[in-house]
Order: sequence, then structure tokens, then C-alpha cells
Amino acid sequence: MAAIHERAEYGIGDFVLLQELSLSAFMDNLKLRFEKGRIYTYIGEVVVSVNPYRPMDIYSPSYVQDYKDREIFERPPHIFALADNAHKTMKRQARDTCIVISGESGSGKTEASKIIMRYIAAVTNVGGQREVERVKDVLIKSNNILEAFGNAKTNRNDNSSRFGKYMDINFDFKGDPVGGHINNYLLEKSRVVHQQEGERNFHSFYQLLSGAPENMLNDMNLSRDPKLYKFINQGGDHKVASLNDKQDFRGVMDAMKATGFSLDEISTAWQVVAAVIHLGNIEFVGEDQAAVSDQGLSAVIGKMLQVSREDLEKSLCSRVIAAGGNVVDKHLNVPESIYAAQAFAKAMYERLFSWVVGKINDAIDPKHAGYVGKNTVIGVLDIYGFEIFDNNSFEQFCINYCNEKLQQLFIELVLKQEQEEYMKEGIEWQHIDYFNNKIICDLVELPHKGVFAILDEACLNVGKVTDEVFLDAMSQKLNKHDRFTSRTNNPADKTLEHHRDFRIKHYAGDVTYSAIGFIDKNKDTLFMDFKRLLFNSANPVIRSMWPDGAKSVTETTKRPVTAGTAFKISMIALVENLASKTPFYVRCIKPNEVKSPVLFDDTRVQHQVMYLGLLENVRVRRAGFAFRMPYDRFLKRYKLICNETWPNYRGQVIDGVKVIINKQGFSSDVKYGKSKIFIRSPQTLFSLEQAREEK
Ligand code: ATP
Ligand code: MG
Repeated sequence: MAAIHERAEYGIGDFVLLQELSLSAFMDNLKLRFEKGRIYTYIGEVVVSVNPYRPMDIYSPSYVQDYKDREIFERPPHIFALADNAHKTMKRQARDTCIVISGESGSGKTEASKIIMRYIAAVTNVGGQREVERVKDVLIKSNNILEAFGNAKTNRNDNSSRFGKYMDINFDFKGDPVGGHINNYLLEKSRVVHQQEGERNFHSFYQLLSGAPENMLNDMNLSRDPKLYKFINQGGDHKVASLNDKQDFRGVMDAMKATGFSLDEISTAWQVVAAVIHLGNIEFVGEDQAAVSDQGLSAVIGKMLQVSREDLEKSLCSRVIAAGGNVVDKHLNVPESIYAAQAFAKAMYERLFSWVVGKINDAIDPKHAGYVGKNTVIGVLDIYGFEIFDNNSFEQFCINYCNEKLQQLFIELVLKQEQEEYMKEGIEWQHIDYFNNKIICDLVELPHKGVFAILDEACLNVGKVTDEVFLDAMSQKLNKHDRFTSRTNNPADKTLEHHRDFRIKHYAGDVTYSAIGFIDKNKDTLFMDFKRLLFNSANPVIRSMWPDGAKSVTETTKRPVTAGTAFKISMIALVENLASKTPFYVRCIKPNEVKSPVLFDDTRVQHQVMYLGLLENVRVRRAGFAFRMPYDRFLKRYKLICNETWPNYRGQVIDGVKVIINKQGFSSDVKYGKSKIFIRSPQTLFSLEQAREEK
């Protein structure tokens, strides 16, 4: 047990062992540990991690050795112990495991996932097989690529992941990594065309401009100055002190090569990035019929995408529609063309991102790597945390729904796991009450009456498809739901400033969403014209990103799944997948809003502790037995406090344990399971420890 190994001045290493459980005791301990540079604390097997906002010298090879093949309670709390535990469980019991990392933006999820991956890489493949080394190299380098295309500087985090990521790492029977697979979720593509004050577009744009060699930029007609380009200059200052775009560009290039991207593929990826940059500067003129004002610019974009200038302009300024069996060109006006150009830019970037993920997956596919045997996996989930912004839209709604789902899984699994352990060990279980957020998941996802269903229905409306229609439908259908509020239902509620706002009482707090844009983002229409345009590009790599452009205009296509429903389906599948594995949890906490290594903002931290349900977690863990340990370990550790067991006990291990417990007078506080001793109160453990120290 962690607490055992650390001096009292560092606080308690496992919240389960707090003398008295209260919010203030929890907070005091967390703060003390943060101040002492102890960023990890356990709740049983859950790791609570506080972002130190400074480099920590606790991940070196000697630390790796300290944690390798140890039990979690043998060393001070560390995320390495959790990684080792997940790996050990996977290897010894041939069970799939998963590591779920949660916490708000900037709390350290992505860093945690990388630390875990590096640990696993460090403790595996002692035989030095070449293929395994390659897989490890690609797994680790894939982070550079994904972060370049999927991360951005936001006001909360200089390197904020703007997509969700679930990565399976496959292991062979020896426990060595032989491949993997990444699932990506909902890239925040609105960022491609719009950034808030103080934020940037995805890193890739700035990396290209800073890092690309002169001749490459010349070929792309690009200058190094991001200020010249509308899609990447809206946030103001584009320099980020903690980032080195130029160096990162080289890192991404190396990583892409190591991953097996061909030179053509690499240059195409950057050409798409360049095309998006130029697309932001395109302007339209004309009365009813828009036309591109600068044909030189459209020629450059055409060159990047390897399509003709004429075809590109046609796609931007008109739309081919099938009307009564005839195919006709419908001209767009200027606002429509601007809208089309933005939709095009967003879609192009999103496809690029998915294509990049696909390429990485090809490189780490265990089958491609020649591995055909049975393998087990460790899944690592690093997904966007709960978000409350000043203005919350469709994206925040999806992200927060995702967090509701994960919270539910956490509740179910943590409880389920406790229960299973007691059953396995033949020990009685007592029920404990906790807040179940299923009601909020239902509010969002139920067929017919959930928000996504109502949204889809509103999108189907012919004629007046507006955000107001959607909001009205919600107000009607969810009128009675105590987690939903809108102005229509509560005219007196002055906190809903705008008539188009609605509020959801999430488990993590109230969030007011603006219904504006929901319909549009849910429909996520991209005119076929663009798909066809890129499907017909002379560049085969671009063509491969747009296979759906093959359809003809008159082909009646099924109505595509909406963005909301697609997200819902992917979340349900994700949760099912996680639930089928043995879970390990990292709960990340952000100590302050200003990235300070010394500031512990009590109010902000307390809020996170509350909504992550950490106290409930401790309570559940303590409800039964605060502490458990296999008999052999217990005997080994405490045999010295008892004459009958020291230096060696000759009988059955369990009997030796019983001798110690009886001698110390703790028999009423423990239960004997099949393989472990369960101790009810932390005090008993402390006394045992004290006895040990006094020897
Ligand atoms: P988002 O949801 O926005 O993606 P996140 O939870 O993934 O946020 P990270 O990007 O992992 O947050 O962390 C933000 C920053 O905090 C890092 O760039 C790094 O500077 C710092 N940080 C996080 N964890 C650690 C750590 N263990 N050691 C040192 N610095 C850290
Ligand atoms: Mg992240």
C-alpha cells in the first residue's frame, strides 16, 4: 500500500486510508501532495493525477525498473504502477484490459497516455525482436502525427486534443506489442475555418508555414507569415511559447516516414493543408451568381488538389442537382458560395485526418506485421473532457454526452468490479448508494425522445428546418424532464438569456447550450460536387480520400446518417467495448487555470473532485473493505511483528496470517477470502504498519 512507503509529510498515498472521509480531508491531502511534488494518489487501484505543469524527474529508466513487475502497493503511487498492472493482468490472465483517462481540458490526459505507452514500450521486448521494435516505434511516433493534425492551441491548453482517441495495443503471448489500432472520434472541424480570440487552428498549419523548406512553400505559393491567411489568423498571436512549430514539422516528417507514409503521400497531405489555407482567402463577387474574384488563387488551389481551376470554381459557385430526372446546374449567390467554401475546407481537413489515422492503422495492423497468433489488447482511451465554455454549441453537447457515458461506465464498472471481487473471494457485499447519471444519458440518446432523436427529426422537416424548430420540439417533448430547461418551459428563468438557449443539468454541472447551428452541424451536408471534384483529382492519394465521390448525380442515395447519430452510435460502441475489458482508471485534475506549477486553486480543484465523483469512489471502496492483500504478501510483510511467524512460518500461509491478526487483536475487523485478506478499517492497517516500523 502506497501510504506505507511514504513519509507522513507527503500526505496519504491512498485516499481510501484517510482517517476520516470528508471533502475537506480529501482536498487537504490532495493539496499537500501537490505541494510536495507528489502528483499521483490512489483510490484503491484508480490513479488520481494532478497536472504538475513542470517537467518531473519521475519517468526515467530507473523509475521504470522500480515499478516493473511490482504490485501496486509496493511502491509510492505512480502511473507506472497502473500501466504495469494493466500489462500484468493482460499477460498473466490473458484478459483484455483498458485504461480510461478522463479529466477536463489541460488536466494531463494526453501526457498520461504517452507516459503509459512509453512505459509499456520500455518494459517489453527484452528479446529485441526487430518487428516488435518497429511496432513500438510507430506506436510512439504516431502521437506526433496525430497531434500535428488533431491538436490545437486553445485558451485552456497549448496542446489541446481536438479529437477523441481510443487506441488498442495488441500483445502476443509473451506480452510484447505486435500491433495496434486507433479509433478517432469527432474532430472539431469548425476550427478549420474559425478560431476564437487567443486560439489557433490545428498545429499542422503553422508547422507547414514555419518548417517547410523554402522550395516547398514556393511550390505552394505560400508565405511564412500566418497573418496573411484568414483561416489561420483569427486568434491573434500565432506564436505559442511552449511550442516549436519549425522543429515539430521535422518531427512530424520523420514520424510519417517511420510510419511508412510514401513520399507522395506525405507531400499530398501537406498539399491538402496548403489548399485549405488558400481556400480561406478566396473571395466571391457577383449579384445573384457568385464568381471567384481571384482566378490566380483558385488556380493555386486547383494545383494543390490536382483538379482544374474551372472544375474547382464550378464546385464553389454552383451546385449540380437532379430535378425530376434532369440534371441541372444551380448557381449559388455569394453567401452560399462562402458557406460552400467553408464546408469544403472543413470536410477536406476532416478527410485528411481520418486518412492519416487510417495510414497509421495500416502500419500497425498486427496482420500486416505478419502476426497471426492469438493476441490480447490493452486499450488506452484519451478523450476530450467535460467542457463548459461561454458559448456552448453542438460540439460541446457531443463532448459532454461522451463524458456522461464514460462516467456511467465508471460507476458501473467500479461498483461491478468491487462486487465481483467480493463474490470471487466469497465475501458478503453490502450495497452502497451513489448518483447514477443514466437519466442524463437517456435524455440525450433514447430513441424518439432523446435530444439526438429530436434533432434528427427536426432535420427531416421539409420547408422550415431551423434551429428554432428543433428547440421548440425539445421544449415540448422534454417539458417534464427535470434535467432539461428552456425559456419556453421556464419563461421566468432569466439565466437563459437568449431564447435559443437550452440548459442541461449534467452530472458535472449545468451547461447552457445555444441551439444555433445544431441543425446545420447535425446535417453536415457537403455537396456531392466537392466529393466528385476530389474523386476525380489527378492525384491518386487525394482520390483515395474521397471514394464516395464515385456516385453519379442521379443515383438516389440513402439519407446519410447525421453527425449526432453517428457520434451516438460510436459512443455506444466505445462504451460496450470498454465494458468488455478489465478497466483501469486515471482521473486527471487541473490544479489551476494559469498553467502554474505552484498554484493549487481550491475552488477549481474541488469542483473537479466533485464531478469526477472521487469521494463517492472512495466511499464505495471503503464501504466494504478499505484494504486487501494476497495472503502470501501479507505474511511476507508482517511476519516480523509476531514471534510465531518470525523468521519463518511453517504451516499454511493463511494460518500464518490468522496468527498475526489474532495476536494483534484485529480478528473482528477482517474477513478471510479465498486468496486474500480483507481489512475493513484503515486504522487496522496503520496499526500493523506501526508495529512493523517499531520492530
Ligand atoms: P485536452 O483535453 O485539452 O487535450 P489534456 O488533458 O490532454 O487536455 P495535456 O495536453 O495532456 O492535457 O496536458 C497539458 C499540458 O500540461 C502539457 O502540454 C504539459 O505541459 C502539462 N503536463 C500534463 N501532464 C504532465 C506531466 N505528467 N508532467 C509534466 N507536465 C505535464
Ligand atoms: Mg489531450
